[in-house]
Amino acid sequence: MSAYEIVAGLEVHVELSTKTKIFCGCSTAFGGEANTQVCPGCAGMPGTLPVMNRQVVEYAIRVGLALGCDITRYNKFDRKNYFYPDISKAYQTSQFYLPVCRNGGLSIETPEGEKTIRIHEIHMEEDAGKLIHDPWEDVTLIDYNRGSVPLLEIVSEPDFRSADEVAAYLEKLREILVFLGVSDCKMQEGSMRADVNLSVRKPGDPLGIRTEMKNLNSIKMAHRAFLSEAKRHIAVLESGGALIQETRRWDDNKDASFSMRAKEDAKDYRYFPDPDLPPIEIDDDWIERVRSAMPETAEAKRGRYREEFGLSAYDSGQLTSSVEIANLFEETAALSGQPKEAANLVMGELMRLMSAHSVLPEQLTIEAKKLADLIGLITGGKINRNTGKEVFEQIFLHDAEPAVYVEEKGLLLVRDDSLVAGVVDTVLGDNPKSVQDYKSGKEKAFGFLVGQVMKSLKGKADPQIVNAILKEKLSDK
Ligand code: ZN
Ligand code: MN
Repeated sequence: MSAYEIVAGLEVHVELSTKTKIFCGCSTAFGGEANTQVCPGCAGMPGTLPVMNRQVVEYAIRVGLALGCDITRYNKFDRKNYFYPDISKAYQTSQFYLPVCRNGGLSIETPEGEKTIRIHEIHMEEDAGKLIHDPWEDVTLIDYNRGSVPLLEIVSEPDFRSADEVAAYLEKLREILVFLGVSDCKMQEGSMRADVNLSVRKPGDPLGIRTEMKNLNSIKMAHRAFLSEAKRHIAVLESGGALIQETRRWDDNKDASFSMRAKEDAKDYRYFPDPDLPPIEIDDDWIERVRSAMPETAEAKRGRYREEFGLSAYDSGQLTSSVEIANLFEETAALSGQPKEAANLVMGELMRLMSAHSVLPEQLTIEAKKLADLIGLITGGKINRNTGKEVFEQIFLHDAEPAVYVEEKGLLLVRDDSLVAGVVDTVLGDNPKSVQDYKSGKEKAFGFLVGQVMKSLKGKADPQIVNAILKEKLSDK
């Protein structure tokens, strides 16, 4: 296998998280009842006309800027003609001649160091409907809810040489897109899909025959498909056979790909400009407006957490493991004015409870204000850290209001020194033997007396204050 070089390029389709579809007002929400988010426009009825969703263009510019692309100023849409039941118009509205972004790049970490995967282009297009094959009834059902959901197709140059590079690229791309707020990139819901184009060659030889595996919907799957398909190519060549350019279906359960159809070329689609959509002109002003409103990337956040808050690289990585966690941390840090406390709370108690109760970041409903209030109670000496954990759990599970909860449960520490002093007097009076022991040098007796005082105060006293008052009173004896 080492005698061969594997060459691969990726086409990644990303569903944009706009509220409505690309050319009509239908909802893009995932999981709705079949064919309830459809109108005559996205069902492809004759006589309907598309209206461009402006948000799609803005998201495309955002992604283009984040990936260092040139933004195309004069944009048009083209029709990609093919008949298939999931595309009721018999063409997909896409961009062929003038894609919105070109010539970008994304750098990934490899064992040999940093490597840039060049981005050939990014174009805007619409998604197809969903075919549901029912093997029991031997029928295929169609759900058009997904039809015309906006997509960006991000096309790389054939710069991948290993499955690990593919995985690293997909991880990083997903992080960028999620933090940009343009897509949830839930691969399990199909909002990010990768097509792998792969060929092998002996070093120095021209490019080999390539095959394409479509719609790989997890990073692990793309990794496995890459390795298995490369092995198949090499086996065919080594046995003296010939590869054909084709599209192959990856079967993850069988760990193998199967021929679907001969690979189409652009000419097979008879692309031509869409006459129903006017050109879109993107000027400098528009680009600058998008640029100035761009959300901060995860990478920039990690750098800022290290510099501004003095957090470690590891902690900064944990806090940017999802956009929801990062936002919650930042809001809590800002509201409490105590970033270190906020970081510890989020990485400690929050992540512990999330895993104990199987809560995903996107399911979090916890309010930063409550976490900030809790931090205030702890660092202000109103409650101790153990109580803090209990309060946190109540916020997490029951949306408790921290100040109200500690008040109602009587968890506030006793701040009244004279009250503590009174209890100390009683304890000393009740335990003359321990006082004698302490006087004769038995340190253990002191601990016992502290314990008695804390017990009388139901653990709600600040141990430092108890110690100080007890020492003072004992020295008078
Ligand atoms: Zn519609
Ligand atoms: Mn496409």
